[in-house]
Order: sequence, then C-alpha cells, then structure tokens
Amino acid sequence: MSIIADLVKYSRLALGLRGFLKDTVTLEESKQRIAERLRDREKNFLSLVQKGIYKNPKSPFLKLLGLAGCQFGDIESGVNKDGIEATLKKLLAGGVYVSWEEFKGRKEVVRGGKRFRFSERDFDNPYLPVYYQAQSSGSRSAGTRTTFDLNRQSDISHYRLLMLADNSALGVHTGLWKPILPAAAGISTVLNYWKIGEPVDRWFSPVDEGQVQASLTHRLATRYIIYGSRLWGVKLAKPEYIGLEEAARVARWVADTKQQFGECAFDSYVSLAVKLCQAAIENGLDIADTKFFVGGEPLTPAKRRQIEAAGASVTPKYNISEIGKIGCGCSRAGATDDVHLFGDSMAAIQHRRRVEPTDIDVDAFLFTPLLPSTPKILLNVESDDYGVMETRNCDCLFGQLGFNTHLRNIRSFAKLTGSGMALIGTNLVRILEEALPAKYGGAATDYQLLEEEDSQGQTYLSLIISPEVGAVDEDDAIATMLRELRRVPHPGKLTAGVWAGAKILRVKRMQPISSMGKVSTLHLMKAE
Ligand SMILES: [Zn+2]
Repeated sequence: MSIIADLVKYSRLALGLRGFLKDTVTLEESKQRIAERLRDREKNFLSLVQKGIYKNPKSPFLKLLGLAGCQFGDIESGVNKDGIEATLKKLLAGGVYVSWEEFKGRKEVVRGGKRFRFSERDFDNPYLPVYYQAQSSGSRSAGTRTTFDLNRQSDISHYRLLMLADNSALGVHTGLWKPILPAAAGISTVLNYWKIGEPVDRWFSPVDEGQVQASLTHRLATRYIIYGSRLWGVKLAKPEYIGLEEAARVARWVADTKQQFGECAFDSYVSLAVKLCQAAIENGLDIADTKFFVGGEPLTPAKRRQIEAAGASVTPKYNISEIGKIGCGCSRAGATDDVHLFGDSMAAIQHRRRVEPTDIDVDAFLFTPLLPSTPKILLNVESDDYGVMETRNCDCLFGQLGFNTHLRNIRSFAKLTGSGMALIGTNLVRILEEALPAKYGGAATDYQLLEEEDSQGQTYLSLIISPEVGAVDEDDAIATMLRELRRVPHPGKLTAGVWAGAKILRVKRMQPISSMGKVSTLHLMKAE
C-alpha cells in the first residue's frame, strides 16, 4: 500500500470518524432502528440482491443463479409469497449456495456440469467506501481482509447497546482484553463502545506490536485513531500490553474496579475470560458479579463453568469476520452458548454436509446478510460452523424486538480456535506433513494436531506424535512448530505469538486418531 493511498484513506477515515464519534446512539434509537430494519427486512434483502448481485457483473452468484435459471423476478415473487428463508431454501436446492471451501477459493465450484473458482474478494460489496483495510481479528477467521467501514460500525453498534441493556450493564465500568492491529477486534470494539455512549475504561492487548510485527501502517493507524480523536475531545482507551501469562494483572484491575465502583464489565475472547477468571480464583481476587461479554470461539460448558466459578456471569457473542455479526446471548439464555440471531441484518438456514476427510456429517449454517452496509454480498454462504437452530420466544430485549431464531452448540468444523486465534488447517497440514517429519523422522501420517479442552475449560492443542517416530525432545518439537507457524502468512506470526504466550501447545505421544483429519477438534467426534 503506497503512502499516498494511505493518506487518502486516513483523511477519509478522519472525516468519517469525527461524525461517527460525535453522534452517539441511545437505547431508544437502537430499538427503533432495529424495529425498522425488521419491518424492512424483505425490502432490504430484495434491494441487496437486485443491486449487489443482478446489477453487479462481478458477483459470483450471477453464474449460480444463471445455472439455476433464476431471474430477479423469481426471487422477488418467492420472497413476497413464502418469505426470505423459504426462498433461500429453494435457492439452495437449485445449487445457489457457496460452501466454506468454495468461498475461501480452496475448492472448485461444480454445479450443473460447469466449473468455476471464486476468491473471497469476488464477494466484496462494491458499494462500500474504503476507509481502512484491517486484517480480521483472527478470532474466528484467518487473515481475511475486511473493510473497516464506519457506516457498518454504526449499523452494528445497536446490538451492543441492547446486549448491555439486557444484562443491566449500562453505565458499568468496562475493560477490554483484545489484540491490536493488524487484528481489527480491539480498535473496532473501542470505537463501538464509544458510539453507544459507553466508553471502555481500559484496553489491554494480549500481544504487543513487536510480537505481531505490526507494520508501520498499522502502528500509525492505531495512534491516528486514538490520538487524532482527542482533537475532538474524544478520549478513547489506548492499548496497554498485558500478555496472557499475566492474566492476574487484568483480574486485579477487574477486582479493583469492582471494589471502587461496585461492579465491572469485561469484553474479550472466550479463553482470555477463562484465564482471567482462573487467575482471579488462584489469587483470591473478588470479581464476583462481573459481566463478561465474550466471543471469538465457542463458549463450551467447561468454559462457562470456569467463568461462573469466579462468581461472574457470561454472555456469548457470535461474530464471523467474513460474514458479520450473527447474534448474541441474553440474560435468559437456556443453553450454554445460546444466541439470538440478529434477524434484522442476517438470514440463516442449514444444510447437512460431509466434513472431509472424516466421515462425519454436520448441519452447517448458511448465512445471507441483509443490510446494504454488509462488507460482502452473500447468498447462502457457509461459515465453517455447524450447530442447532430453532425458533423460540424469549422475553429478553431481543425477544421483545422479535428475534426468535436461536443458534446453539455452535462449533467450527474446519479450523482450530485456540486462545482466540484461528488458523486455517491447510497451513498447518504442511507443517505436520513436511516440516516435522523432515526434522524428527517418521511419515506424514505420524503427526496430528488436535484441539482439546481440559476440565478447567482451557483449550489445548495436542501435537500428537506417533510412538513409532522414536525419541523426540518435546520442547524442541513445540519450538519447531511455532517457528514454522511464524513463516505462515498472516495470521501466522500473530497466532504463534499467542500460542507461545498461552503455552497452549503440548506434545502427546500416541497413535494419531485415524478417523480424524490432520488438524482437527475433538468436538467433531461428538457431532456424529
Ligand atoms: Zn433472550
């Protein structure tokens, strides 16, 4: 990216940022906005399909819709007659969907005897202004470029306001533990909280600029947003590095805040919240009644138990960087990770698919964003998540607004989620099949990486090495794994930094599990 191009984007960002930060939204406005979007749901969907697909010659969906013999008028009459979801199901049956592998450009799309290959960028919304390209947070994604768009930030800020209101967390002092750029999660959360008039008190980053080898552009962008905003009297929290091994320091801040103000709220990745709570218990710190808002990876029963063991409450958020905000939990949630689907901005259906190379079938989610500010225009696009979808009334704020589709037991079938950082398996396969056998001997099949969770809710990555390989220095094997990981394009360095800090890699000497892929997660075995 040239300096000139950077400057143009920065000045555009500055113009937008001032207005964005000045006009904070109120709870009443948020409720009203969401009610409007629910009312206009079908209209918004049809307009997006017409403008973003049928009038966008670059849209990959033109090919799929063409093969299905589907004109805009067919979709329009389908929606008017049967609604959005029924129409999406019909389109799915006609081959109008994109699997996760096809979306990522890893697999050819074969429909009706025709073959195509798409890349993720083909799906970009052509109508969005480009302020600043940030790399997605890695929490649920792997180095996807997402457009840092302030209109989008405004559109989604309403959900956070409702989530805080539903949990009686408005006006509560809040801390944040999320990474700095190139991960977008930290800075966008800081902006998002400001937008709803609930600025975060402190922003802790689990990585520093050196560890993630942040580029000059990213270093400047962070300072530009934080210090530039002060010119307009906006005091955003600046990032303070506190590594994962220092969770007790963050826990102490939560305990101190609680002591001083009576309560505290906290926003972070699931496993960071788990670490914080563990540190609080180990150090005898009182963080009871702290309200945690967590995302980035599945909130499993063990992880929820660990957070609740510290006397805290936890609300899951479900977000996929490539697709958007999907939903969040509420104060009445029944299941561990139950979320209300944000039905005003997202439609979801499911289909059964095989997870290669295992013989396991899962009910994968297919998502269709509905708002014009969506970063990507998608029609029935798979995330790599599967789970349970059901319709249920709930008397929380989201339920009152009409969000009655729930998702739960949400798990990824394609990637590892260790410590809030994901990495697509294919990058790891090369390390497991080539780098490790080259160094320690044995065959490509002698190595496997398995995501597991211990009884404390901590996620571990077991590097499984077959006993047939012979003697291996376990620390050396972990060091090799991390070194190789750093050579992988973004988020290789970021992921290696976090994995090393969290010490989540461990070696297990056993036969690789043959029914599983090279890189897999134990929950898939339970999915059958
Ligand atoms: Zn609810």
